[in-house]
Amino acid sequence: MLSSVNMTYLDHAATTPLRPEALETMLPYLRNEYGNPSGLYRAGRVAQAAIDDARARIAGELGARPSEILFTSGGTESINAALCGIGYAMRRAGAGAHVLTTAIEHHAGLHAAQSLEEQGFEVTYLGCDAHGRVSLDEFRGALRRETVLASVMLANNEVGTVQPVAELAGIIREFAAEQGHRVMLHTDAVQAPGWLDIDVGALGVDALSLSGHKFGGPKGSGILYLRRATPFRPLISGGGQEMQKRAGTENVAGAVGTAVALEQARRDIRERSERVWKLRNLLRDGILESIPGARVNGCQANCLPNNLNVSFDGIESDALLEQLDKHGIAASSGSACSNSTWEPSHVLLAMGVPIRQAVGSVRFSLGEQTTSEDVSQVLSVLPAEVAALRHMEGERRSA
Ligand code: PLP
Repeated sequence: MLSSVNMTYLDHAATTPLRPEALETMLPYLRNEYGNPSGLYRAGRVAQAAIDDARARIAGELGARPSEILFTSGGTESINAALCGIGYAMRRAGAGAHVLTTAIEHHAGLHAAQSLEEQGFEVTYLGCDAHGRVSLDEFRGALRRETVLASVMLANNEVGTVQPVAELAGIIREFAAEQGHRVMLHTDAVQAPGWLDIDVGALGVDALSLSGHKFGGPKGSGILYLRRATPFRPLISGGGQEMQKRAGTENVAGAVGTAVALEQARRDIRERSERVWKLRNLLRDGILESIPGARVNGCQANCLPNNLNVSFDGIESDALLEQLDKHGIAASSGSACSNSTWEPSHVLLAMGVPIRQAVGSVRFSLGEQTTSEDVSQVLSVLPAEVAALRHMEGERRSA
C-alpha cells in the first residue's frame, strides 16, 4: 500500500490531518454506537444526542443558534445548498432572480452560480484587484433591484486574500433598507477556521459554509450556517432530517469529529497564526533570494497566514510539483479540485497575472504542524529543481 508518512506536507489548503481528539471522539460512533439518530430506541437516542451536542458546540464556536447549523457532506454541498437553496426560495417568493458573486470563488461557488444561470437567474461576477481583493464600490454598484443574493468568499483558497465581508454586509443592509426588500449574503469560509475568527454576527452574513477536513476534522462532513428566517429550499429531498432542510441519515461520527476539530482550531488562533506567518515569510524570503524571476502572487497583508503562492517564470507548475514530490514535498498548483483539468488558475487570471506566470504558480499552504525544518527542506531542493526545469524548457524551445 502506498504511504505518505514522513512527507513535507505543504498542502493544508487542500486538506489537513485529522486531529487525534477528533478521531477519538468519532471512534465510538464508528464502532458500537452505530444507531440511526431517527431510531425510537436507546441507540437512536444516543446518536441523536451526539448530533445535538455537536450542533450546539459548533453554534457556540460561530456565535450562532444551534437551530441555525446544518450538517452537510462538505464545503461543496454547503455552498451549493446556500446559493441554489436561497436563490430558488427568494425567486419563488417573487423577490427577483439576480445573484452577485465574484470571479475568484472556488469552483463549488462558480459552478453553483453557473447552474443558477442555466435556471434563468442573472449572475454578475465581480473582478478583483492585483491583490485578489474585491472593490466595495464595485460591489455596491452591482447591486440591483432584482438582486436576491450575494456570495463572496471570506478567504481565497489559492492566494489567501481575505475579503471585507463585514463591510459588504453593511453595504447590503443599507441597500436593502433603501429598496425595502431583503438581499441575502453568503460567504464561503472554508479556508478560514484556525486562522481567522469566525463570528456570524460580526460578519453580518445570512449563510456561511465550512468543511470539516480543512481544519482537522474528517472528510465528507460540512457545515452550513443558515440564519433564522433565511428563505431556503432544500436541495436534497427525502426524510425530515436537519430540520427538514437536508434529508439523509446523518453522518454522526463526521458531525462529532467536526465539532471537536472546530473547537481545537479556534483555540490558540493568534499564537498559531503568528508562528505560521513567520514560517511562511521565511519560505517566501528564501525563495525570492535564491530563485531569480520568482514572484509572489496575492496580498501580503489581509491574507491567510498560511498561504504562499509563488510564480516561477518559464516553467509549468505541474512539472515542478512532480519533482518536489520525488523529494517527499507535497504542494499544489492552486485549487486541488481543478488539478485534473489543465487550465491556468482563474483566480490568478482575474488578478491580472500574465498567463506565462500563472501556469508556473505553486501554492504552498502551511499548517499547524509545519516546522522550520519543512521550510529548510523546500529551500534546499527548490532552486535546483526550478533551474533544471528552466534549462529543459530552454532546450526544448531551441530544438
Ligand atoms: N471552498 C473553498 C474555498 C475550498 O478551498 C474548498 C476545497 O478546496 C471547497 C470550497 C470545497 O470543500 P469540500 O472539499 O469540503 O467540498
